[in-house]
Amino acid sequence: MIPFTQLEQHFTKLSISHLPTPLEYAARMSSLLGIELMIKRDDCTGLAGGGNKTRKLEYLLADAQQQQADTLITIGGIQSNHARQTAAAAAKFGFDCELILQDVAGTPSDSYANNGNILLDSLCGATLHRLGVDDDGQQWAEQRFQTLQAAGKRPYLIPVGGSNVIGSLGYVQCAYELLQQLKQQQYQVDQIIVATGSAGTQAGLLAGLIAAESDIPVLGINVSRAATEQNLLVSQLLRQVLQTLQLDPALAADRVHTNGDYYGPGYGISTPASEAAIKLLAQREGILLDPVYTGKAMAGLIDLVNTGQLATNSKVLFLHTGGSQALFAYRACFN
Ligand SMILES: *Cc1c(COP(=O)(O)O)cnc(C)c1O
Repeated sequence: MIPFTQLEQHFTKLSISHLPTPLEYAARMSSLLGIELMIKRDDCTGLAGGGNKTRKLEYLLADAQQQQADTLITIGGIQSNHARQTAAAAAKFGFDCELILQDVAGTPSDSYANNGNILLDSLCGATLHRLGVDDDGQQWAEQRFQTLQAAGKRPYLIPVGGSNVIGSLGYVQCAYELLQQLKQQQYQVDQIIVATGSAGTQAGLLAGLIAAESDIPVLGINVSRAATEQNLLVSQLLRQVLQTLQLDPALAADRVHTNGDYYGPGYGISTPASEAAIKLLAQREGILLDPVYTGKAMAGLIDLVNTGQLATNSKVLFLHTGGSQALFAYRACFN
C-alpha cells in the first residue's frame, strides 16, 4: 500500500488549495441540536471562492500538465461549482478552458441563468457552451474534444465533478489531513456527513480513511439520486481508488452509506428544508451553505438528529464542500 507520506511521491499534484482547511466547532448549532458539531471548512480552499473541487483539480491539472495539454474541457450544470473552480484553476496555470454547461430542469429564473457561478466562469475567462436540459453533455464534450484536437490543440477532458480516480486522490489527502487535525485536537468523531453527487469526494475520503485504518463512518447525503444508485456509484469509484493505492478493493465492503431522502424533486432544485438549513447556519454560525449541495446535506443532518437516527451528544463532523457562490443564482428562494 502507498502510505500517506508518500502520496505526493506517487501522484504529482499542483499546489492550489489553502491547506489545511480549518476544523471548527460549531458551538451554537451544537447547543441547538444537542450534539457536538464540528465543521471541516473545505468551502475555504481559496480558489476563486473555493470548494471541494479545488483539491481534485490539484491532481487533475498536474495530470493535464504531464500530458502537455493546453485546453481544459469540463461539464456541469449552469451553476456548477466544479466548472467555476476549473475555470479559475485554468486561469492560474495558463490553460484555455471550455465549459459545457447544461441547463437544469425546474430552475427558471434570470439570476439562475446569469448570476452566481456562471458570472464567475466568464470573469475567469472560460469559454461557455450552454446546452438545453435534454442535450447530452458528455457527448457534446467528446465532440468538442475532437474538434479542438483536429484544430491542433491539446485538450484534456475532466469528467463531471472531477470524479475519477485522479480527482478523488484530493479527498484521500483530505482524509489524512482531517485525521491529523483530530489527533492534534485530541478529538474523536462518531460520524462524518457530506453531500454526495458525482461521488469522488465520498469515495476519496473513504479510501483515505481505509488506508489510514480509521473506521469513522461516512454518510453521504445524496443531491441527485436514490440511495441504491448512489451507493453503487460511490462503491465502484472507491474500489478503483483503493486499487490505485495498492489496497484490496474488498475493503470497500460495508463502508459506503448514502441517504436519498433529502434531495427533493431533483438535482439543483431547492427544497424548503434546505432553505431553512441555509438560514439557520447563516444566523447561528455565520457560515454560508448552498441550495444544491450543502443546504440539503445539512437539512439531512438536522433531520437525522430530530428523528433520533443520530444520537443525542454524538460527535458529528460535517464536511462543508462549498457552493455559496450559487446563492446569488437562487435569490428567488430567499425573498
Ligand atoms: C460537487 C459538489 C459536491 C459533491 O461532490 P462530489 O465529489 O461530486 O460527490 C458537494 N458540494 C458542493 C458544494 C459541490 O460543488
